Amino acid sequence: MHTSPLEQPGTGDAGGMNVYIVQTATRMARRGIAVEIFTRATSSDLPPVAELAPGVLVRHVTAGPFEGLGKDELPGQLCAFTAGVLRAEARHEPGYYDAVHSHYWLSGQVGWLSTGRWGVPHVHTPHTLAKVKNAALAAGDRPEPRIRVIGEEQVVAESDRLVANTPVEAGQLIDLYGAEPERVVTIPPGVDLERFRPGDPAAARAALGLAPDAVVLAFVGRLQPLKAPDVLVRAAAEMLARDPALRDRLVVLIVGGPSGNGLEQPEALRALAVELGVADVVRFLPPQSGSALAEAYRAADLVAVPSYNESFGLVALEAQACGTPVVAASVGGLPVAVADGESGLLMTSHDPAEWARALSDVALRPARLAELSARAVDHAARFSWDRTTDALLATYAEAARPLETSRREVAV
Ligand code: UDP
Repeated sequence: MHTSPLEQPGTGDAGGMNVYIVQTATRMARRGIAVEIFTRATSSDLPPVAELAPGVLVRHVTAGPFEGLGKDELPGQLCAFTAGVLRAEARHEPGYYDAVHSHYWLSGQVGWLSTGRWGVPHVHTPHTLAKVKNAALAAGDRPEPRIRVIGEEQVVAESDRLVANTPVEAGQLIDLYGAEPERVVTIPPGVDLERFRPGDPAAARAALGLAPDAVVLAFVGRLQPLKAPDVLVRAAAEMLARDPALRDRLVVLIVGGPSGNGLEQPEALRALAVELGVADVVRFLPPQSGSALAEAYRAADLVAVPSYNESFGLVALEAQACGTPVVAASVGGLPVAVADGESGLLMTSHDPAEWARALSDVALRPARLAELSARAVDHAARFSWDRTTDALLATYAEAARPLETSRREVAV
């Protein structure tokens, strides 16, 4: 409901969830399963129905004003959105949809009502959880509202199956939200290994106007406090303070667009870089699509993922698939996405001085970098959208059957 699979990820509300939906829907369609994705219309120019890929339709539902509606205001449009979904189904023969998979709690509410009416299974993937997010807020970040917490609790209680990205997230659904363990399935996301594969880093650098011997540290993703791109800028300042000769070679590449509030806009990061005296080494690129994003990963020696929380962190997998090791905060799904000491490093703090040490330790030691780079490719290859899709389809089939034995029943 809050973002469309047709949007460019890496800015605003479009991120990993959009990629997840596009990748799994496309693969389901290739297996002969018709997929229809309902999303809120955000412009009067959008057609009622658009084809995302053969066998995948995107239905634009009118719910509230097209533009200028913030994410916080969307709960007020749930009724209108659900009405649009129910109307679309009513134009078909009864039993047209076999299952509903909702993504994020707002759509979870729509899935809850529509599946109750249609008598089909409801599978829900939260993607992020308010209680987890609120426990790891960046300084100055706004907590997620209570209405979201309540809405998530309702969706957890009402879904036939809940899909978690990692075992940690599965535990959070059970422990923080009271989900029945039997309804929680852990399915890791994937990575598009055709698009994200090792290539020629020198060519990638040349395309971006970067010197072959530059030390390139990249941040890729939505610019928001939770993702902490400022930690990389601060760490770069520490690196230069310790080794001024590095100034001629160091490049901090920030790829992505604004999202949320606070320090996230490129302007605020730019101001921070000026304040720290490192504006000359920081380069910004708007959200990248197609092969350009893979080239940006290849151009980097390291990709930094300093997030305060990350449900999974597709960027970490994509970088590794391109042969670029990742230095990531040890939060959320990142310990699954990154094999500590093998395909990258996991950091337990957000202290820029510690990040500077870790980044220098790898980026300035070619042998260490090469070793991690080779293993990064192997680690990423363990994840695939085809496997994610197979597991989702199996989950839809399971969700259509009654729960065999719940733990509660066994205990009795
Ligand atoms: N992304 C992109 N272009 C950009 C930056 C990011 O297409 O310039 C994509 C990236 O490929 C990844 C997604 O946005 O698949 C971000 O997903 P992630 O799980 O890392 O973070 P999220 O945005 O979901 O918090």
